[in-house]
Amino acid sequence: MRQSLGFFLLLTLCNLCTQPASAQQNHEWSEVAPGVHAVLQPGAQRFDDSNSVVLIGDEDVLVVDAQASADQVRALLAKLREMTNNPVRALVNTHWHGDHTQGNSLYVEAFGEQLEIVAHTSVLEDIPGRAKPALDEQIDTWQEAIEAAEERLKAGVDEEGAPMNKEEKKDLERRLERSRKRVDDWRQQRWALPTRTFGDRLLLQQGSRTIELLHLPGHTRGDVVLFLPAEKVLVTGDLLDDLPYGGHGYPRQWIRSLRRLRELDFDTIIPGHGAVRRGREHLDLVLAMFESIVGQVDAAIENGDDLETTKQKVNLETFRQQLAGDDASATSAFESFIPATIERAYLEAKGELPD
Ligand SMILES: [Zn+2]
Repeated sequence: MRQSLGFFLLLTLCNLCTQPASAQQNHEWSEVAPGVHAVLQPGAQRFDDSNSVVLIGDEDVLVVDAQASADQVRALLAKLREMTNNPVRALVNTHWHGDHTQGNSLYVEAFGEQLEIVAHTSVLEDIPGRAKPALDEQIDTWQEAIEAAEERLKAGVDEEGAPMNKEEKKDLERRLERSRKRVDDWRQQRWALPTRTFGDRLLLQQGSRTIELLHLPGHTRGDVVLFLPAEKVLVTGDLLDDLPYGGHGYPRQWIRSLRRLRELDFDTIIPGHGAVRRGREHLDLVLAMFESIVGQVDAAIENGDDLETTKQKVNLETFRQQLAGDDASATSAFESFIPATIERAYLEAKGELPD
């Protein structure tokens, strides 16, 4: 797998190869404070696309993260229309990754000129410079995987070359159909850029609700966290989610940002992927894992180890057990996300990490 690709590809590509051909499920909505709705991807889909957060005010609506799947965005907007006639006036992108920004244009379509897309300044550059090329690469990779699967279907054999039975063939056909539709959707992708950007901090007011936007990089260079001081809610994007994807991350900066989160007076975390969390336990666990990674990498460098040796030496077994446990998709996420973080921590220590 090419290193530059995000988790979105890593896991959705796995779907074509290994996951059962179940249809996409609806969001799970939960109101964590009055007017503050977490719109979560169902558990099995939690690494495929991002969560959103909907803040309903007296006159308008603010949404955090656009998601990638056009069908899911349309479903979210249909449900929102049942709840309120107030228009969405602000859409915040917590960072540039496609599963948080690809749906932007659907919001522009629905709410027009009056919609502001809010993000850190770097996102303006990173949607065309990083998200778009990543999606183009993803389309090529998926197209190749689809063609390979079509060949296998024709020959009637699975990936190991063993003959498929009727049920397996049907399942592969269903997955192929869904994958072709996804690639078609991606080919029609239209990008919409932020219209309001900021540097360190931005304060928004929605009626009586105060919303503080903080630039806290780590997962990417442009991560934004939303803090609702009265509701004691944090919306963390992928700076703190179920399992941190480190492929575009800055581990030492990530640690500093997670430490900043600890100083905020919150009770509830709505992450970019995974379930709503109460309290600080998950934050402390993820922070401890990053500290452990950086500590072990520094010790390996001190010892003169090269990158490969370092990757093999770093032991995160206790964190794997606590973060992934027996959950198959979490385990596969852990195994694809964490080596990238170790590599980035190594390059960062050597001063070789690209911006
Ligand atoms: Zn992300």
